[in-house]
Amino acid sequence: MSSSMSDGSSSSRQWKSSPMPYRVGPLDYQPTVMCQCRCPAKVARWISWSTDNPRCRYYKCQHARAWCDGPTSSFIRELLNDLRDMVNSLRRWKELLQKEVEDSRAKGERQRREIDYVRAMVAMKKEEIRSLKARNQKLEKEKKILSAFCHAISDGDDKYEVKHYTHRFTVNLDKKECSCRYWHLSGLPCPHAIACIYFKTNSLDAYIAECYSVDAF
Ligand SMILES: [Zn+2]
Ligand SMILES: [Zn+2]
Repeated sequence: MSSSMSDGSSSSRQWKSSPMPYRVGPLDYQPTVMCQCRCPAKVARWISWSTDNPRCRYYKCQHARAWCDGPTSSFIRELLNDLRDMVNSLRRWKELLQKEVEDSRAKGERQRREIDYVRAMVAMKKEEIRSLKARNQKLEKEKKILSAFCHAISDGDDKYEVKHYTHRFTVNLDKKECSCRYWHLSGLPCPHAIACIYFKTNSLDAYIAECYSVDAF
């Protein structure tokens, strides 16, 4: 038999089968009633919530059980049974609602974490784009400088012959190709092509593949 005792509100958890909290713990009552059977100890007093004997207190040890209160009138018995059932069903409702609240709280927390993750990814991608743009601009500048050392001669029809020191390249602006193959492979005009483009116009925009244009970012 349990020797832990409490009363008041905390007992509503401890004596869970009771729809009402125990005002006096099973061993806290006075005057003391000693066990009538083999065990020489104070007997515990419980409250019955059975359909036949609601609210009737009884003494119980591990060997025996005896009623402490007399029988209830049928009106009180029915009333108490209804109240007991109502308390039990409200308790079940409360548990269900609590579980729903916990579930939706967990779901909200999951969604918050997902949003944080997406935000971090977006920030990372933005930083990547920023550094790619900076790199692209640097490369363009370098190529422009290199192209200054290229000497382009027009063959007509957007075809050029480019001398770069002792090397010679053929550039076709219409097909966006140079014999060094850089333009064809990278989508960005090589210094030889840039020399031809500046020979022909003032802007590279029309000769840079869509995906590299600043607007694409
Ligand atoms: Zn006993
Ligand atoms: Zn080239």
